[in-house]
Amino acid sequence: MKRLIIVSPCYNEEAVLQQAAATIAETMRDLVNKKKITPDSYVLYVDDGSADNTWEIIKSLHEKDGIFCGINLAHNVGHQYALMAGMMAAREVADVVVTMDCDLQDDVEAIEKMLDKHEEGAEIVFGVKVDRSADSKMKAKSAEVYYKSLKAMGVDTIYNHADFRLMSRKALDALAQFPERNLYLRGLINSLGFKTDTVEDVIRPRIAGESKYTLRKMIRLACDGITSFSIRPIELILYAGLFMMFIAVCMFIYVIVSICMNQSAAGWASIMMSLWFIGAIVMISIGVVGTYIGKIYIEVKRRPLYIIEEELKYDSPSCF
Ligand code: UDP
Ligand code: MG
Repeated sequence: MKRLIIVSPCYNEEAVLQQAAATIAETMRDLVNKKKITPDSYVLYVDDGSADNTWEIIKSLHEKDGIFCGINLAHNVGHQYALMAGMMAAREVADVVVTMDCDLQDDVEAIEKMLDKHEEGAEIVFGVKVDRSADSKMKAKSAEVYYKSLKAMGVDTIYNHADFRLMSRKALDALAQFPERNLYLRGLINSLGFKTDTVEDVIRPRIAGESKYTLRKMIRLACDGITSFSIRPIELILYAGLFMMFIAVCMFIYVIVSICMNQSAAGWASIMMSLWFIGAIVMISIGVVGTYIGKIYIEVKRRPLYIIEEELKYDSPSCF
């Protein structure tokens, strides 16, 4: 039997927490009864600097039932960093950690299958979304574009896997060795190199509240994924430069031939057009190179990823 800690980041989730907590506690009790996990397993909520009553709800859940513990981050650092805060805190005491969103859109029944796969030897078990019908059309389409563009840019990720996964203590210890500041967990964990497996995850609609992943946050996640794991954008600049060189050579030949045939080759319009074209290419190139330099800038500062303001530790036996 393994001690399981479920790490669940929450950001302004007062609308879903109570109901979701009841379901997750029931799932944990079921797993204890089936002797899949030890009775001192628990749920660790990470409050990612919520502005609503999320932390108060976590505190009251903790008071009523020792199965719920919590970490309150000093400010909103984002989903990936909140997950990291929870995983690193859980690593010290857990045999296995399952990360899942607190809105319970993921399939709680898949946790048991994850534990079975872990028993069979997998150090990391990824939940892979098999049915997105509960997601909005816009969400499903943007997710498809997101996974395809990561693949096109050479980033090694698992299609339709978000952050619902099981990791063993060994895998977490390995993850802790990565000094990355720009966190893209899906890519990082995939590159750890342990034996992995997958389970199916049927996505459900949110029980309440709205998605906290705004379009801006999604675009930022995709950009982080690409610029943290791929240098293909820089290669594309090189190819664009070579293509422009080819056009320039063609134009040079055209101008020389026109002069030899005594015709006027180029008017002011074509010169202006070339100027704008070259200007745009130079700006885009600087932008892409600048993105990488920005990442180096953030890495060298070596700031802490998160600061824990308050912690509710496992101290009382839960109501199993
Ligand atoms: N979340 C977080 N910090 C943020 C945004 C989201 O901890 O800045 C949490 C959120 O509370 C939820 C999970 O990350 O538990 C996934 O967010 P959400 O359900 O809004 O995303 P979606 O499922 O719509 O992609
Ligand atoms: Mg969600």
